[in-house]
Amino acid sequence: MSSGKINVSVENIFPLIKKFLYSDHEIFLRELISNATDATLKLKHLSSLGEAKGDIGSPMIEIKVDAKKKTLHIIDQGIGMTSDEVEKYINQVAFSGAEEFLEQYKDSASGSGIIGHFGLGFYSAFMVAEKVEIITKSFKDEAAVRWACDGSPEYTLEADEKTERGTEIILHIDKDSKEFLKENRIKELLNKYNKFMPVPIKFGTKEETLPLAEDAAEDGKAETITVDNIINNPSPAWTKQPTELEEKDYNDFYRELYPMQFEEPLFNIHLNVDYPFNLTGILYFPKLNNDLNLQKDKIQLYQNQVFVTDNVEGIVPEFLTLLRGVIDSPDIPLNVSRSYLQADGAVKKISNYITRKVGDKLNSLFKKDRAGFEEKWNDIKVVIEYGMLSEDKFYEKAEKFALYPTLNGDFFTIEELKEATKDLQTDKDDKLVILYASNVDEQHAYIEAAKEKGYQVILLDSPIVSHLIQKLEASNENVSFARVDGDAIENLIKKDEATVSKLSDEEKEKLQPIIEAVVPKEKYTVQLEALSSTQLPFVLTQPEFMRRMKEMQQAGGNGMFGNFPEMFTLVVNTNHPLIEQILNTKTEKKRERLIQQTLDLARLSQNLLKGEELTKFIQRSVELIK
Ligand code: ADP
Repeated sequence: MSSGKINVSVENIFPLIKKFLYSDHEIFLRELISNATDATLKLKHLSSLGEAKGDIGSPMIEIKVDAKKKTLHIIDQGIGMTSDEVEKYINQVAFSGAEEFLEQYKDSASGSGIIGHFGLGFYSAFMVAEKVEIITKSFKDEAAVRWACDGSPEYTLEADEKTERGTEIILHIDKDSKEFLKENRIKELLNKYNKFMPVPIKFGTKEETLPLAEDAAEDGKAETITVDNIINNPSPAWTKQPTELEEKDYNDFYRELYPMQFEEPLFNIHLNVDYPFNLTGILYFPKLNNDLNLQKDKIQLYQNQVFVTDNVEGIVPEFLTLLRGVIDSPDIPLNVSRSYLQADGAVKKISNYITRKVGDKLNSLFKKDRAGFEEKWNDIKVVIEYGMLSEDKFYEKAEKFALYPTLNGDFFTIEELKEATKDLQTDKDDKLVILYASNVDEQHAYIEAAKEKGYQVILLDSPIVSHLIQKLEASNENVSFARVDGDAIENLIKKDEATVSKLSDEEKEKLQPIIEAVVPKEKYTVQLEALSSTQLPFVLTQPEFMRRMKEMQQAGGNGMFGNFPEMFTLVVNTNHPLIEQILNTKTEKKRERLIQQTLDLARLSQNLLKGEELTKFIQRSVELIK
């Protein structure tokens, strides 16, 4: 037996390791299993070169908990280490690696800026163990050794009886880390970090029911056998070539990634590059609804099949964080802060590549199967619209396939939409006005009115629509968007027969002050118009610009726009019989009540009547029909 002192400048590195990364103790297991995996892959490689003699079998890694002895074991059948190699790799290399790592990061706010903590390696075992043992036998023809260290810089190294090739790491779990002696906790960690590692990982055993043999069918007893419980899938779909995979394989893998997700993904994008950087992965478009925040952070980042994080902010563009799936790249630097990551040239390239791939995939889906694309539009539009807003490169691509559904059930691209409306909807300045609804129910009355006039109305109902419109207006010269309940519709050139007013000028002059006397003028600007008699007697509109300002204000730009009062144009439909009735009612009280009631009806149709006002309106209505 020999013993020695690890050559290290920090007198006792272990308390430091323990303190550091406090919240992240659990990563020790990932680090140790990564080492075991490396050792196994190295052995396979050497064997394929003929440098490791004999049949190496199918090596696996085993994790064992011994609750009585308070030990956790990580056992591999990899290359192992000779006595000299333990000296070199464990006492010198690993230690200096750990020390260097700590030097570099001891001052950075623990955890916050660092994604994953690669590099700490073997010594992270001391975050949870008071003593660590390594029993290892090299694939070379040399005796096994046992190394032990109790957290001081002193270690011991002695011969061991171990006869099988490989390494067993024994952690004597310290009293603050008892959680790691619980099977469920270990299972949870294996599932989080090691689910797709390339070497089979065994954790305990499980019962498996054999299919009934024919002659056993009578007594009906199924036979069960005990088999190794392998917790991982060593060759997940993203490590394969797209040509090897069917649609079903992609969907099966989706289920593997998100076992609690019952809906099938809409489609997937297989990422696969090796130059100028290495990246593989599969991204899925799930069905998305309008609630953006709930759906983020589902993409998992791996490095050589080891899970790193499910927060890929900074690595994929923001709008794509709504997708699901896996990205695996050894080229993403992990021991750095996110702000550094965003500035990193390689990461920028990766992010651009992903954006381009997503754009190309959408474009080819659109071209190949437009009907299918239209069908999915509602579930994917948030991502596309979000992307158009935030990434110019993506906007350029998306212009060709972004769709604008009309209320008649057609889907137009922007060019098709322009074409379809160009002779129909221009204003005085010859500008194309595209009418849109943002809520079919709330704007129902306006939509009907616009349709009656033969206008095309599209549906834009995602949460970022006001921003998208500005972008569209900026990129499409001579096109403006106007919400269907806004005032723009009145400015459209096309006026039909209904515009001939039934009221004489004299009557109109009389009518205006009668109405203005009842409705509060700080809120409503009264305007007489000859609309069709099938439209409401009063119609409320809001200037497009004012509504957009309000929407932006609600989106958080408070101070910037000041506090906008609610203001409406009250369009009085002079062709409606009720207006004539108002004009001819002699009793002031009765007339006032009619105007009030008509105004409330207009507000009701726009969902503006709430609370006490709504109660009053209902009471008044009951009185009227009594
Ligand atoms: P890293 O893995 O980043 O090199 P570690 O501190 O984790 O750093 O390990 C240091 C070295 O110890 C490894 O490079 C490897 O040579 C050796 N080693 C660690 N674990 C094992 C193992 N299970 N089998 C064989 N060699 C190992």
